[in-house]
Amino acid sequence: MSTVDLKGEVHDTSVLARAREIIENSPSPRIVQEEIVNAVSRNAIWRGSECLNLLAPEAPASPLVRQLLASEVGTRAAEGHIGSRQRWFAGTKYIDEIEALCVELLKKVFQANFADHRLVASMIGNMTVYSALTQPGDKIMTISQPFGGHSSNRMDGPAGVRGLHITDVPMDPIELTVDLEDFAKVARQVRPKLVTLGASLTLFPFPLKEMSAIVSEWGGKIFFDGAHQLGLIGGGQFQDPLREGACVMTGSAGKTFSGPQSGIIVWNDPELSVPITDAIFPTLAATHQVNRVAALAAAAAEFLAFGKDYMAQIAANAQALGKALHERGIRVLGDHKGYTRTHQVILDVRNYGGGYKVAERLAESNIITNKNLIPGDNAEDWDYPSGLRIGTTEVTRYGMKESEMEIIADLIARGVTEKDKPAVIKAKVLELRNSFTKLHYCYQD
Ligand SMILES: *Cc1c(COP(=O)(O)O)cnc(C)c1O
Repeated sequence: MSTVDLKGEVHDTSVLARAREIIENSPSPRIVQEEIVNAVSRNAIWRGSECLNLLAPEAPASPLVRQLLASEVGTRAAEGHIGSRQRWFAGTKYIDEIEALCVELLKKVFQANFADHRLVASMIGNMTVYSALTQPGDKIMTISQPFGGHSSNRMDGPAGVRGLHITDVPMDPIELTVDLEDFAKVARQVRPKLVTLGASLTLFPFPLKEMSAIVSEWGGKIFFDGAHQLGLIGGGQFQDPLREGACVMTGSAGKTFSGPQSGIIVWNDPELSVPITDAIFPTLAATHQVNRVAALAAAAAEFLAFGKDYMAQIAANAQALGKALHERGIRVLGDHKGYTRTHQVILDVRNYGGGYKVAERLAESNIITNKNLIPGDNAEDWDYPSGLRIGTTEVTRYGMKESEMEIIADLIARGVTEKDKPAVIKAKVLELRNSFTKLHYCYQD
């Protein structure tokens, strides 16, 4: 076996060593390809049909969206804006059609004057906003990680890369939203150019209108990072940031919106079009994966037809799950406010070994969740936080309703409290999954 210098390697070196062994010991690269395909199949069987996938950032895309992701157009290059005059390459007449449909569908779903389809990730959408609306050295306010703030809006993400000075948005640990009184005080001192709202741990709406009125005193703006809530916003189940004072919204197309993993950005003010679009092309996007754009357009069309019902059921299921877990003695955040207004339910599992241990234990029973920082944790506790985050997007798309949330809560509670052995819970998970195999809220129903 050839030796590899592992100094500076960030990945688990034992996992990499196993991969190297396969590559070195395979008589032909073709055998290596088979190993890749086999791992994909094992994942499809296990995660795709045997697990209760409760990861909040995941959603099962419809069969058409998946099909389009593998389409021929994904091998084509189409740098530039829509229309042959503004493309770098010839041969884009059909690609223009696809991309124009995508842009116009996104505008319609989010009732926005402008939308862009070229963000291969929502992270890049956030970098776009910071590039377009701030200068290095500017002051901004964003939410800290224990309250759900995302790295993209902190020092270790695009906001930090842009050289911005970040002050925390004051949050209320009980109400789990912005502490408006404190915000007014701090913001009037800092006078941030931009305030970023939206979070990865997200249960309740933000006082956006009030905050917008405050920052407008010095010409500040609000940016809504709707990565998680994007579908809920489009489906009318959450607040409507663009109409409550946010000047721009980004979001992940593959979270509640249930499209291909990537990003979208929408805004209304024509003055923002040049700075935002210049930041996207030619700065942060070039070959922007037209197969993904086609899949995103198909997902947006599906969303127009089914989004409202789908998103309403996601939120209803999350509330039912929160209640059912609370009734089984598990600490659920926001219990005095109906647990949640989103797809998420957040558990405090510090008494059961913390988020990492509990998530690993549940995964042994084929219940997939994630460890999460919660208010009271320090940002440095990232590896071993007190919380567990659960999302209802996937189980809802498989047709589960409030009564199944009772069953899921029971399985989770038995796993968290170690009342049953993983094998016992796993058998029940398989039974439940086997009765829900068809995707809903799409035309392949
Ligand atoms: C997931 C997330 C992002 C990043 O989105 P990607 O689509 O994964 O790039 C940004 N902001 C928040 C709040 C998120 O939760």
